[in-house]
Amino acid sequence: MAYNSIQATQAALERGEVKTTDLVGEYLAAINEHAHLNIYVEVFAEEAMRIAKRQDEARAQGARLGKMAGVILSIKDVICYEGHAVSAGSKILEGFVSPYTATALQRLLDEDVIVIGRTNCDEFAMGSGNENSFYGPTRNAADVTRVPGGSSGGAAVSVQAGTCLLAMGSSTGGSVRQPASFCGLFGFKPTYGRISRHGLIAYGSSFDQIGYLANNPQDIALALQLSAGADMYDATAPNKILPAYSTQPAETEPKSIAYFADLMESEALAPEIRAAMQKTFAKFEAAGHKMVPVKFSYFDYVVPAYYVLTTAEASSNLSRFDGMRYGHRAQDANNLNETYTKSRTEGFGTEVQRRILLGTFVLSSGYYDAYYGKAQKVRRLIRDQLQGILDAHDFILMPVSPSAPWPIGEQTDDPVANYLADIYTVLANLAGLPAAAIPVETDSPLPVGYQLMADQWEEGKLLQFMRGMSIDA
Ligand code: GLN
Repeated sequence: MAYNSIQATQAALERGEVKTTDLVGEYLAAINEHAHLNIYVEVFAEEAMRIAKRQDEARAQGARLGKMAGVILSIKDVICYEGHAVSAGSKILEGFVSPYTATALQRLLDEDVIVIGRTNCDEFAMGSGNENSFYGPTRNAADVTRVPGGSSGGAAVSVQAGTCLLAMGSSTGGSVRQPASFCGLFGFKPTYGRISRHGLIAYGSSFDQIGYLANNPQDIALALQLSAGADMYDATAPNKILPAYSTQPAETEPKSIAYFADLMESEALAPEIRAAMQKTFAKFEAAGHKMVPVKFSYFDYVVPAYYVLTTAEASSNLSRFDGMRYGHRAQDANNLNETYTKSRTEGFGTEVQRRILLGTFVLSSGYYDAYYGKAQKVRRLIRDQLQGILDAHDFILMPVSPSAPWPIGEQTDDPVANYLADIYTVLANLAGLPAAAIPVETDSPLPVGYQLMADQWEEGKLLQFMRGMSIDA
């Protein structure tokens, strides 16, 4: 039987109770059993088995293995892995094979992690339900008629359905926390710059961060510790001291926790979310934490600012997919311009096209100041106000999403409804702050989580607190 933490897995391997090849075999069986959930775009079955065998042999000979030995990881289909296809859930990258490996992944490979496959996601990570993938929707294992969240939907279900131990995802506006919450997992987005973006296919470069989805905070702490830190290929990953997250103790000392009072009771929250928030609030109070109501003045501007800025960045980032350099090229084009137009029209899905058009519009001369320039100012105001709150308090408590996982297909004709549901997660990306989704024990059949946001570079403090809260859970 597969184990549900890195520590338990490695202890069992060391005791000789199980072999790495057995683990891979079980995960591959789980992948087959859950094929109807459409979790993976590609499974690296043979390769994973081959590496597992090599690790077992090395272990038998007494060799010292890396800190991720025996850990089976899934990677979202936006993470580059040398010699492996990567498509960002898009037809436009059809047949593209990555010539190099993302820094974060390379660091885990150097510690003997085993990659079992690449997971389905919204095309170019644009979406909240995994319904915008060229490969079709991924299904929530808790209720197959519902979305698993997005854009790292496949990543979330890969762990939820027991097809791997840990998932590497990415977050531009909530794509790790929201699917984690929809699937009953821990999801973690670090401070902007904590993990190198080298080898992560770009969506909104000033927002994008690699993050992890796991069964517990300890697994996230180890993965973060091993994959984060300065990188010569990403100037936004600064040369800061990297704490040893995995050995920091669980923390249960009383904390000062800010919350937005009007939001806790808000009618805009689905009843099960409101109930989960109230339950979390009561649990925090019972644990001796000081709950402090605070005000945030910009909720009306959060989603518009996010969508103006990210579509602008996306329109620029996605201009490289032109039919000439990567992936799909239209067959019946007669000149260069026609090749660009036809390849992009055939290669990109509806949502990606919508966002490229929107982003090109907000950047166009005559509208730049009114939209892009203004949204940048709003971003600054949002960041300053959140910073003020975090100067006075340890964490901010919020819902992850105002809604529970919705039925597949329900929101496809209403992109704005989809965008509005991102309101609580995009805040951390707008401000570059670390944030986590933490599951709530609930009687409802659909999983739900709450969100905690911390100050810049305080991942360690947040993870310690998460461990403290999950011990007495
Ligand atoms: N749902 C948000 C969007 O569509 C966030 C996606 C993400 O974090 N990649 O942009």
